[in-house]
Amino acid sequence: MILEMLTVGPFQENCYVIGDEVSGVGIVIDPGDEAARISLAVEQTKLEIEKILLTHAHVDHVGAVAALVDEYSCPVLAHREAEPMLKQAPTQAMMMGLKFGKVPILDGYIEDEEVVEVGGSKLRSLYTPGHAPGHLAFYVEEEGLVLSGDALFAGSVGRVDLPGGSMEVLMRSIESRLLTLPDETRVFSGHGPPTTIGEERQYNPFLTRGGPF
Ligand SMILES: [Zn+2]
Repeated sequence: MILEMLTVGPFQENCYVIGDEVSGVGIVIDPGDEAARISLAVEQTKLEIEKILLTHAHVDHVGAVAALVDEYSCPVLAHREAEPMLKQAPTQAMMMGLKFGKVPILDGYIEDEEVVEVGGSKLRSLYTPGHAPGHLAFYVEEEGLVLSGDALFAGSVGRVDLPGGSMEVLMRSIESRLLTLPDETRVFSGHGPPTTIGEERQYNPFLTRGGPF
């Protein structure tokens, strides 16, 4: 499987280009900014982009969606609970002193435990709210990797002070849906470097001793 990580925009958000080299089919997850750079990376992989998936609808994860839809004419998919926040992308941007262009539209919804096929690869969605409404992680069992969005980071967890955030809900999501994956599972987050489930289980201060303090 092809997996490219691009760190984009002022929030240093990780966008992922994922594809199956056999079929040449690819998807983009969380194109947050810098559409031109993402499309250049796609070009280098020679993948045919079939879908755009969103882990959640925070403005730093969706800024390049509309431009890529124009380029690839592909559907944009996310959990239905993420939709209201997506519609508020310009307001979210304004609150951070940023401008937002065209607001992307969801073409379909991804339910919990839904399998999204990318050529021969299968991504299973894991409903992991707490950081943002309708947050999804995507697990690729055959590759032993999970795209954790902003639920789980190397050494940290997602912030919960934005609308719809809840530490209690986030912790439950992480414990029941992410920490239940095998220790060797590689974790690719929405921000920061990759890690593994085992590493986080053992050392993440938010997940050990019942809290960071
Ligand atoms: Zn976020």
